[in-house]
Amino acid sequence: MKRHTPFTIYVSDSSDEDVDHYKEEIDRHKEKIACKVCLDMVADVIFLPCAHIVSCGQCAPALQKCPLCRKVVHGIIKAFFAVDTPTNISDV
Ligand SMILES: [Zn+2]
Ligand SMILES: [Zn+2]
Repeated sequence: MKRHTPFTIYVSDSSDEDVDHYKEEIDRHKEKIACKVCLDMVADVIFLPCAHIVSCGQCAPALQKCPLCRKVVHGIIKAFFAVDTPTNISDV
């Protein structure tokens, strides 16, 4: 019997097209949660006062304005997700 981790996508008897579809879904998910500055890390910092989450903890201090709404950033808060999120996007 084969064992798979919960996040391993196991496709049997599927065409390559199906596999590509899954890969696209994962890429899209990564894009959504990735830091918009370095694209390497998971965005997990909340900008104040706009409350947008667009960058990782390493890039956030370098940003004077929120990349999304262009509001001046007055402070940052590290966000903690309910689910364990890897900090590096390649681990997602
Ligand atoms: Zn970053
Ligand atoms: Zn913003």
